[in-house]
Amino acid sequence: MTKTDIGERTIALDGPAGSGKSTVAKLVAEESGLPYLDTGAMYRAITFGVLKRGIDPTDWPAIDHALPTIDLELSATSVVVDGADATEAIRGAEVTANVSAVAANPRVRAELVELQRVWIDKSGGGVLEGRDIGTVVVPTAALKIFVTASVRERARRRALEIDANIDKVEADLLRRDKLDSEREESPLRPASDAVTLDTTEHTIAEVVAIVINLARDRGLLQ
Ligand code: C5P
Repeated sequence: MTKTDIGERTIALDGPAGSGKSTVAKLVAEESGLPYLDTGAMYRAITFGVLKRGIDPTDWPAIDHALPTIDLELSATSVVVDGADATEAIRGAEVTANVSAVAANPRVRAELVELQRVWIDKSGGGVLEGRDIGTVVVPTAALKIFVTASVRERARRRALEIDANIDKVEADLLRRDKLDSEREESPLRPASDAVTLDTTEHTIAEVVAIVINLARDRGLLQ
């Protein structure tokens, strides 16, 4: 299968934290029958491995050195790092606070992008969510969606999810958005041919229906 063929069977969902893209991506995968990959979980897993080794997340040479020793196993339901289950820990406050620093490291990105392309190759396409899927990982994706929502709405959703104070969550989201959008390597931005969906005023079901319809229009689904 060529890279173009892979793009023909790929839906790329990018966007900032709390935009609803995870929920939408999982439902679109379910409805389309395409396999699903959460690339954020991969950056979180590396961050977990970095923190576990006592490495400063901004110390790129130390991370570059440790990277080949961090063992990742991702399945549809679990994330295993260095042989231990980290499915819950990668969603915790410590990993969330440090993941954007680790994700800015070019070697980390190169390694994970390669793993993502191998995954797409093996599965013959899929629904991938992240920050750089449409711009870097699969620029030939048949459908690219950039999912956004107002920062207040994103903070409200995330605060409900993790039972936290909305103002604190909003400050964390803004900090992460800034790091993700301003980094030199693969910054968060819509691909020039992406469809932008603002979910602030839409239900998840409405957004999923829009994506599925677009996928049908592009010939990705029957
Ligand atoms: O999607 P999620 O919030 O779990 O992603 C965690 C972090 O991983 C993001 O804030 C970003 O720094 C990084 N990330 C990335 N590229 C991706 C997916 C996630 O840089 N494709």
